[in-house]
Amino acid sequence: MTLLINEARLWQSLMSLADIGGTPKGGVCRLALTDLDRQGRDLVIGWAREAGMSVTIDQIGNVFMRRPGRRADLPPIMTGSHIDTQPTGGKFDGNYGVLAGLEVVRTLNDHGIETEAPIEVAFWTNEEGSRFVPVMMGSGVFAKAFSLETAYAAQDTEGKTVRDELARIGYIGDEVPGEHPVGAYFEAHIEQGPVLEDHGITIGVVEAVLGIRWYDCTVTGMEAHAGPTPMGLRRDALQVATRIMQEVVAVAMRHQPHGRGTVGMVQVHPNSRNVIPGQVKFSMDLRNVSNELLGQMDAEIRAYAAQVAQDSGLTVQVQEVSHYPAVPFEAGCVSAVRQAAQALGYSHMPCVSGAGHDAVYVARLAPAGMIFVPCKDGISHNEIESAEPAHLAAGCNVLLHAMLDRAGVARD
Ligand SMILES: [Zn+2]
Repeated sequence: MTLLINEARLWQSLMSLADIGGTPKGGVCRLALTDLDRQGRDLVIGWAREAGMSVTIDQIGNVFMRRPGRRADLPPIMTGSHIDTQPTGGKFDGNYGVLAGLEVVRTLNDHGIETEAPIEVAFWTNEEGSRFVPVMMGSGVFAKAFSLETAYAAQDTEGKTVRDELARIGYIGDEVPGEHPVGAYFEAHIEQGPVLEDHGITIGVVEAVLGIRWYDCTVTGMEAHAGPTPMGLRRDALQVATRIMQEVVAVAMRHQPHGRGTVGMVQVHPNSRNVIPGQVKFSMDLRNVSNELLGQMDAEIRAYAAQVAQDSGLTVQVQEVSHYPAVPFEAGCVSAVRQAAQALGYSHMPCVSGAGHDAVYVARLAPAGMIFVPCKDGISHNEIESAEPAHLAAGCNVLLHAMLDRAGVARD
């Protein structure tokens, strides 16, 4: 008989946690390191202790809840996510990954199953980055992407620091971040996008997280009066800029299925109805699944911008402002997820994550993979965020079997 998690219990836990910071519109507002965050943390840890787990906390407040395996010398097979939310967040973003992990443990307990490697469920501090920047703070410190001191010094809008707020809610632990062993890491998460629902698929086997390159582009021409200046004698920065903006989308379209190109910010100078624009600044956001493809997109947009500059005689500057490499997940973890979905009879498809997750940082230290389940209309970071209990249960079952695959079931 196939081992399955308890769908109703998982749902009940999600609803109970969502009560803490619940909003009138059915969402959740539980910002990192607030009193509500503490209540959420205390609730989840209480459940973990009831399930017989031991708890370790590190200096940035990441929490690791452990179910021992037969062999204490093996590094734990870990799962987790975050329980902080956006100010107008939903019930499932992050919370699902943590409570799916807890449900895995409860299921193993129900059936008296011992694993070879220990099983751990983690929740990472301040994933959302809404109250304190940077985002994915706890997992970032864990992966040494930035220092504990940098994270501690981050302030909210009232000038309160991460260190003080962590201490105030009682969640500065002893363990040095990153010292905690991880044998492999799986994170279950709602997709936060529309692809699975659009395809009518239950499980997304996440193969990679998209890399991102951000640019500021400046086109400089000459301001002039919109009336007396004939069309042939203009140096119209906006007309040249819009050609490049169109190309940002065209580059992404040439790099399907995973290429993305977005112009989200435009400043026109002097922004006056009867003045030919003298200068335009705009942002360009390029994404793709591998650094090689992202490099090709980079080369194409730069070549196009240079060509447009030459043709128009205007100055075009393209300046890269940030670069986050693509993160491929480990082949063994990806296939453990795929095989679990297959064995359980769920429809599944390979997919990529366009958003950041704690798994991105954990992947720097350990083999990692992710499981996506659909959310209604692809909407997240919104109080109306919604997901089907059956989909959440399916993702949790995949998590259970992928973790068992990595941890090994102890047999006499
Ligand atoms: Zn999340």
